[in-house]
Amino acid sequence: MAEIIDGKALAAKFKSELLVRANSFENSYGRKVGLAVIRVGANPASAVYVRNKIKACNECNIRSFSFELDEDTSSEQLIELIHKLNADVQVDGILVQLPLPKHIDERTVLAEIVPQKDADGFHAINAGKLFLGEKDGTVACTPRGIIELIKSTGVPIRGKHAVVVGRSNIVGKPVAALLLANDATVTVCHSRTVNLKEITLTADILVVAIGKSKFITADMVKQGAVVIDVGMNRDENGLCGDVDFDGVKNVAGYITPVPGGVGPMTVAMLLCNTVDGAVHE
Ligand code: NDP
Repeated sequence: MAEIIDGKALAAKFKSELLVRANSFENSYGRKVGLAVIRVGANPASAVYVRNKIKACNECNIRSFSFELDEDTSSEQLIELIHKLNADVQVDGILVQLPLPKHIDERTVLAEIVPQKDADGFHAINAGKLFLGEKDGTVACTPRGIIELIKSTGVPIRGKHAVVVGRSNIVGKPVAALLLANDATVTVCHSRTVNLKEITLTADILVVAIGKSKFITADMVKQGAVVIDVGMNRDENGLCGDVDFDGVKNVAGYITPVPGGVGPMTVAMLLCNTVDGAVHE
């Protein structure tokens, strides 16, 4: 039976360290670390995520600046706000909650955040630094949290076969780059992968980020593997992951639950990125 990786407890540990760092920043600079959170439109899931992020800021003595913009906000208006926040010395990190309404191009908007304040780590400069192995960029929150979750098991990443299912810019690709930087041998799978099960069965570390409820079943997992379930899918029973937790926990060595695994660590890493950015100013 797998050991459950408690993302909530790990996130709490990171947040208590962040509180100390944020307090010491305030003592040194006479102001709090600041994070601006922008939400556009009325996506109910985004509202929950933003609320959680603001609550976490409060727990860590980080000042949050919340901007709730109407659904019909134009790209130009959003970019104007970002430019203002780029220049605001009280703001160390800027987060634009995705997804944005369809009429706004996400990449165009994200490119306007100065890379030093890109708390989400989605800017092309920060993504590029990650792929080049340059250590001074901001790493995307979910991938950064996933590495911490794996490390918390005590299982060394070096030399292991890590399989990432999903190749999105916000999870799959950056987590693959981080696993590679940690000396894993990495395979990235996606919707066109042939014989997915054959590949997942060879994974010592299996990271799943596809957005399909309970897609990875026990027969696809190697005995003793570390399984990280990034999926957040809502169905009639509430939230569930991309991994069939009840089946896979009988095969895996370690497994993250949903909720209570990757989600809390994503929020904690957002705050880490914000404090890191402030301390390096
Ligand atoms: P995307 O929709 O951007 O990407 C999904 C990826 O999964 C794509 O690369 C796609 O392949 C691949 N995929 C889809 N179906 C299959 C399949 N049958 N077999 C193999 N690969 C497949 O999703 P995200 O990366 O943004 O998110 C993934 C999940 O993680 C979602 O449930 C999301 O809600 C969750 N998430 C959770 C976070 C957290 O903090 N806990 C943070 C971010 C996301 P292709 O490229 O070929 O289309």
